[in-house]
Amino acid sequence: MPASSPNCVFCDIIRGDNPHHVVYEDAEYLGFLDKYPLNPGHTQLIPKEHYRWVWDMPQADIGFMFMKVRRIAKALQKVFNTEWVIADTGGIGVPHAHVHLVPRFEDDGHGELPDPKILREIPENEMEEIARKIKTELERTPG
Ligand SMILES: [Zn+2]
Repeated sequence: MPASSPNCVFCDIIRGDNPHHVVYEDAEYLGFLDKYPLNPGHTQLIPKEHYRWVWDMPQADIGFMFMKVRRIAKALQKVFNTEWVIADTGGIGVPHAHVHLVPRFEDDGHGELPDPKILREIPENEMEEIARKIKTELERTPG
């Protein structure tokens, strides 16, 4: 088991104590839909090991994680029919290293960076459908 922190929402998700819509999982990383999406398909990718910041991770792990970020970004491009997908390491919402991936659209109302005040209300069944589409796309294009 990777090292975890007892008072960390993301470690709870990894332990299965806080159900989210998972889109990607392997031995070391977990990708799931953000519960407070800035746009449909807003995904978080996290290492299963608890680190406070992405920059605390071993160098090689950051490289591996960003290979997965690229793979998820490509899936989001396909599913949401947009080339514009942003990735940022954020870090203040939950103190566990994470990368936000947000599909972007010309008319989505955000600036160059997403406006944290613009959140989408997406019904649970739609979130489920979005997760299923991303997962299917990721399975179709391994690597
Ligand atoms: Zn954690």
